[in-house]
Amino acid sequence: MKVSVDGQRCQGHTLCAMIAPDSFVLNDIDGTSSPVSEVVPADQQDAVREAAHSCPEQAILIEE
Ligand code: SF4
Repeated sequence: MKVSVDGQRCQGHTLCAMIAPDSFVLNDIDGTSSPVSEVVPADQQDAVREAAHSCPEQAILIEE
């Protein structure tokens, strides 16, 4: 499974980093989110899916 964040959509709500703190890192300057790694480790996939569903901007893109 792969994950990416659409930087045009992300508004830096930080929800993803709260739901999946091992999988997303927030930019210190504008607060936008990026995946820690494009390929999601098996033990983080459920949290990443939950984060994607919870993102208010639908900025988290998952490729199964
Ligand atoms: S929840 Fe969505 S909009 Fe908010 S920081 Fe994460 S990717 Fe960006």
